[in-house]
Amino acid sequence: MYADDLWLIGIAWRLDRLRWVPSHVLTDVVTSEGACMWPSPGSEPPEARTDSELAKRLCGGCPAQDECLELELRTAGAATVGVWGGMTDDDRRALHPHWLRRGERAERGPR
Ligand code: SF4
Repeated sequence: MYADDLWLIGIAWRLDRLRWVPSHVLTDVVTSEGACMWPSPGSEPPEARTDSELAKRLCGGCPAQDECLELELRTAGAATVGVWGGMTDDDRRALHPHWLRRGERAERGPR
């Protein structure tokens, strides 16, 4: 097992706490608390050379990071694109099978 797998398995386990939270509740949390949903007046989007850097700068410290990640995994699954939940799409695609192995969710979108 690789270090990346352990990292991803740890994230999948962490998301278990949101397993039975309905998607509409996750959406409410992300839209009301997500750091990118309410930029401060006059602030510019963070500059980044890579998606990985953007994920760190955009999502670092966001209080809704896990809810955002769980919601994206449910709704977009392996077809996910862009930076969401503090991760790049490549990282989320790598996380997806680990997340699926964690079992049932309140709701789940396409896989
Ligand atoms: S985790 Fe990132 S993409 Fe998701 S709401 Fe927070 S800042 Fe926005």
